[in-house]
Amino acid sequence: MTTRPAPDSRGPGRAYWRSGADGVLRLPRCTACGRLFWYPRTHCPHCGSDAIDWVATGGRGRIYTFTVVRQSPEPFFAARVPYVVAMVELAEGPRVMANVVDCDVESVRIGMPVSVLFEDLGEDIYVPLFRPAVGGAG
Ligand SMILES: [Zn+2]
Repeated sequence: MTTRPAPDSRGPGRAYWRSGADGVLRLPRCTACGRLFWYPRTHCPHCGSDAIDWVATGGRGRIYTFTVVRQSPEPFFAARVPYVVAMVELAEGPRVMANVVDCDVESVRIGMPVSVLFEDLGEDIYVPLFRPAVGGAG
C-alpha cells in the first residue's frame, strides 16, 4: 500500500492543508478588498494586499472543468487510475483543484454539484476531495 504523496504544507499553503482537521474547507480572504481566492499565497491576487485571513466555506460547489487521468508514473496514483482531477467552483466563488471520488469517473459532468470531504494524511495534513453532492450545490 503506497501512501498519497504529501502536498507542500509550508508557507501560505499550510493553513489550507490543515483546514480539514474539523471537516471544514477554508480559503484565504483578503481583509483589504474582502475577496476570497485560491490558491493560497502571501498577497491578494485582486488588490495586492498582504492582509489575509482564513474563512470557512460551505464546502459545496460545482465542477467547473475536469479531466480523467488514465495513467500515472507515480505508484500511489497508478494504483488509482482512472481518477478525476477537477476544478471545482465553490459556492463562494473561488475555484479549487481537487480529486473527485466516490463515483464512476464516466459519470462526472461539468456543472455537477459536489461537496468536500478530506483524506487525513497524518502530520496535520488533510487533502480536500470532492464527491457528488446529495441535494445539489449549496
Ligand atoms: Zn484584496
